[in-house]
Amino acid sequence: KQTEFRNFPMVPRVVFGKGSFNQLGEILMPKRKHSDAPFIFLVDDVFENTELAKRIPLIFNDQIIFISAEEEPKTAQVDALVDKIKREYQDLPSGIVGIGGGTLLDLAKAVSILLTNNGSSSEYQGWDLVQKPAIFHVGIPTISGTGAEVSRTTVLLGPDKKLGINSDHTTFGQVLLDPDLTQGVSKEQWFYTGMDCFIHCIESLTGTFLNAFSQSYGEKALELCKEVYLGDLPAEESRDKLMMASWHGGMSIAYSQVGVAHAMSYGLGYLLGVKHGIGNCLVFQHLEEFYPEGVNLFNKMKEKHNIELPTGICANLSEAEFETMISVAMNMVPLWENALGKNWRDTITPEKLESIYRKI
Ligand code: NAD
Ligand code: ZN
Repeated sequence: KQTEFRNFPMVPRVVFGKGSFNQLGEILMPKRKHSDAPFIFLVDDVFENTELAKRIPLIFNDQIIFISAEEEPKTAQVDALVDKIKREYQDLPSGIVGIGGGTLLDLAKAVSILLTNNGSSSEYQGWDLVQKPAIFHVGIPTISGTGAEVSRTTVLLGPDKKLGINSDHTTFGQVLLDPDLTQGVSKEQWFYTGMDCFIHCIESLTGTFLNAFSQSYGEKALELCKEVYLGDLPAEESRDKLMMASWHGGMSIAYSQVGVAHAMSYGLGYLLGVKHGIGNCLVFQHLEEFYPEGVNLFNKMKEKHNIELPTGICANLSEAEFETMISVAMNMVPLWENALGKNWRDTITPEKLESIYRKI
């Protein structure tokens, strides 16, 4: 599979700029099919009763659905949202708009796919299983780092796996990047989600799958991360730059792959529900053996912003639980191949992974 050249979809339209959210109504108008085909806005519930919610350009029978990002998206949650929308409207919506972090962006992508493809979302977790185009979907990030705004995947926790729906139909049809929307994010969350981007860069730039396409985006994203987390930028410039770092970081891994931290973080996420951003940080701090320069930079950033990572996460796990986590991580074969090459199993054994997990 790796020898093929991937014909990779990009977001066809993107708006960037402070205050660009005010243009949303105008952007959606030509995409409205008719007055009975609504836009459904899936919005992070931190925005309930806020100024931002009031600025959402509702007309006709449009609807806002507030959703908590406390837990990462689940296949059953996607299926329930799709059922609700189908039940409440006779016509398919004109589009789905996701407003929030990676959690809400991924939900919007998945719901738009499942509105036109039958069955449960869990049947589409994997690579290129989606047959029909999704309905029009728009991504509006309110926190920067995951790259979910550009990626061709939506990561879902299913009944028996945590895996993305990777397809050409997953990518957004429109993205709106308004750095002002990221203003309310707490310092800790800003760090964890931003470090997701930083780790994408390190894993892509040091990986065996690296090529000039990925490198060009990865280097730019890394440079922006360093400015944001090690420099002393004014707040507004910092928000602008982190939003573009996220975009470039996402583009970088689109044509390569992530690595060790992501593989192991998936294990933590599956077993313990540890969220993607913090999970990556928890693992990455112990990976100096694989990413010496990256871990050194990470520690500097962590110190500069006085971030204390939680400890003892794996302290009381049973052998069976370690086994589950290790098997989820080891199943991420392309990630290990990218990180360490075809012979990755020479270095990565269950014992090795357990010794790293035990430090967390
Ligand atoms: P998130 O969406 O999980 O949100 C994190 C926290 O920040 C939540 O409490 C949320 O309410 C809060 N928040 C978001 N915007 C805010 C704002 N402007 N003000 C105040 N609070 C705000 O965060 P995330 O790290 O962006 O996303 C993680 C998810 O993204 C995971 O589910 C992960 O699997 C997924 N992900 C997807 C991709 C992809 O390519 N599809 C890539 C990486 C991660
Ligand atoms: Zn990531």
